[in-house]
Amino acid sequence: MSTATAPSVAVIGAGFGGLAAAIELQRNGIDYVVYERADSLGGVWHANRYPGVACDLPSSIYAYSYALGTSWSRRFAGQPEILDYLRHTADRFGVTGRIRFGAEVTAATFADDGWLLEFGDGTTRRHDAVIAATGVLSRPKMPEVEGVGEFRGVALHSAQWDESVDLAGKKVVVVGNGASAIQLVPAIVDRVAELTVVQRSPNWVVDRHDRKTTWIGRTLARVPGFPQAQHRLTFLWNEHRAPLIFRSLDPVRAVVQAWVKLKIRRQIRDPELRKTVTPDYPAFCNRLLISDEWYPALDRSHVSVYRQGLGRVTPEGVTLDDGRAVPADVIIWCTGFRTEEYLAPIDITGRDGRKLHAEWKSGPQAYLGVAVSGFPNLFMISGPGTGGTTTNSFVYILERQARYVRKALQHLGTAGGWLDVLPEVQRRHNSWRRERLSKTVYSGSCPGWYTTSDGSAAPIWPGSHLSYGRATRTFEPGEYARGGTG
Ligand code: NAP
Repeated sequence: MSTATAPSVAVIGAGFGGLAAAIELQRNGIDYVVYERADSLGGVWHANRYPGVACDLPSSIYAYSYALGTSWSRRFAGQPEILDYLRHTADRFGVTGRIRFGAEVTAATFADDGWLLEFGDGTTRRHDAVIAATGVLSRPKMPEVEGVGEFRGVALHSAQWDESVDLAGKKVVVVGNGASAIQLVPAIVDRVAELTVVQRSPNWVVDRHDRKTTWIGRTLARVPGFPQAQHRLTFLWNEHRAPLIFRSLDPVRAVVQAWVKLKIRRQIRDPELRKTVTPDYPAFCNRLLISDEWYPALDRSHVSVYRQGLGRVTPEGVTLDDGRAVPADVIIWCTGFRTEEYLAPIDITGRDGRKLHAEWKSGPQAYLGVAVSGFPNLFMISGPGTGGTTTNSFVYILERQARYVRKALQHLGTAGGWLDVLPEVQRRHNSWRRERLSKTVYSGSCPGWYTTSDGSAAPIWPGSHLSYGRATRTFEPGEYARGGTG
């Protein structure tokens, strides 16, 4: 931007994070457009429609702090309700009309003190600033195994569900046992003839205690002030989990592990299967999963669980690492997302022709997960170092990022020009992160996407949610270089 005037902002993505940013801008009178490649808002809650998909945090806390009071049908609402909530909230805050659906941003180039966006249909648009809220769970990951194209049956990824696929009486192979699989398997187990779970690493699965909302709960949701008090108290209660990520509290971890082992003993009769599903790595370094139905579903006579990787896919089914063949009519890939590829596949070019993805080749780096040095006026929601969370509601992080970015944009509006986080500020921040992470469970070797091979635990904020709130409370102009003609 060339003069001190209200910046025009592009928000990329209309999921939970993009909507948090859009609502923050809308409420503060900042001009913006949201570009969403899908034909609906909702992000992961639009894309993920597999049977059983639901929230794995209580819905009273998995909601924007300024949009509470929804009368959820269950303690853990299902995907359709969460999508409705997002649509309703976007309407209520006047954001829906600002979303351009079917608009896929393919490239973003910093030029003339602003960003030139290119779209899939060949058109371009210029904005003073960009907020990339593309999330880390938007690109389904397929394992690199041979023979995927040879399979004669139906194969689908959990995040690309096809409602027309009939599972009744079929032999089904589910690959993976993460957060998606543990919701999907219990939801389909009664329908299928045979179910095989290919489980490379077992997970720690704690109790969920899901239940329908009673009339008392529905009434209380309408009592002024109650949803806000409930939200705050649940948030504060969850905050006590943050210290658990530090090694100093190993005894707490031991209690959780003992509790899950007891749950396995109670819910699974076969001693061999108990061994198969018991993890051999410490709890908390991977996402702690919650389900009341996972272990009972695995204990069914038509269900087999194999603790190993996949050898290859064949025309008839799959072959396991040990060469055993498992026939299948349907393969369901619950193999997660390409979480390490932040902002992919957008081709991003910053100052002096710097290419973001080339600079991130050996791991993404950012300041507070929000800004990247060399890429002025580009902000992120759930960027590197903040894309995963084990201790509390992720929505809190999204709201804090939206607030921080809004403050930066307000500064731009008065000062003009562009803002580029100083390289030494980013470096200092990342040294601090690495140092903090080295003292947590994420520093060890652990399955799952929270730990990375270089030990940087790329998606994890290494502290409590409240500490992230404190770190982003004020926007410090001194941490940014200023340029342009403002
Ligand atoms: P995920 O947690 O990344 O799990 C992927 C699974 O696939 C893991 O069990 C992994 O095994 C397995 N896998 C990958 N390649 C394999 C191979 N070649 N052979 C055998 N197994 C293989 O993915 P997800 O379950 O889709 O969940 C992703 C994230 O989505 C979660 O962490 C969570 O943040 C989010 N989510 C949230 C909710 C919610 O309710 N809010 C629900 C679902 C998902 P390893 O563990 O050995 O790598």
